[in-house]
Amino acid sequence: MLQVYEDKLNELDARVIKYFYNFVQTLLDRDRPFKILEVYRSQEVQDVYYAQGREPLVEVNARRKELGLYQLPPAEDRIITHAKKSTHTDRCAMDLVPRITMVNFKDGRRTESERIPWNLDEPGVLPLWEAIVRIGVACGLEAGAKWQGFADWPHYQKII
Ligand SMILES: [Zn+2]
Repeated sequence: MLQVYEDKLNELDARVIKYFYNFVQTLLDRDRPFKILEVYRSQEVQDVYYAQGREPLVEVNARRKELGLYQLPPAEDRIITHAKKSTHTDRCAMDLVPRITMVNFKDGRRTESERIPWNLDEPGVLPLWEAIVRIGVACGLEAGAKWQGFADWPHYQKII
């Protein structure tokens, strides 16, 4: 397994690592392209995520800057969480998303670019997410995708 995955897995509580390890290893074994976005999150970062869409963007961005997070554009100024406390802060959660590689040919040169298919309404996108959710659930994880009312598609957690 690549060091980048090992590093992310090591942010987890020792009691839940094995579930996430199986998840990541199964995705690799099945050639499912994915990206781990976030594992451990400090309470300060959770607080600023909670403030997003609730407090003025300029204040949210001032706090994000202090925490080393990128500056939110107005297009992202919306509520992204209903949780003041997060299982990420307890080291029991991982945000993981599908990844699409696009091959481009321009002036006879081949280049590759990657993107995360955030728009679930785009043709062909939903099955990419659902396949990963199925694997996560089979590995014993709770998938945020299954939450009623506020589905959190990238989110996987193991409550201990
Ligand atoms: Zn999450």
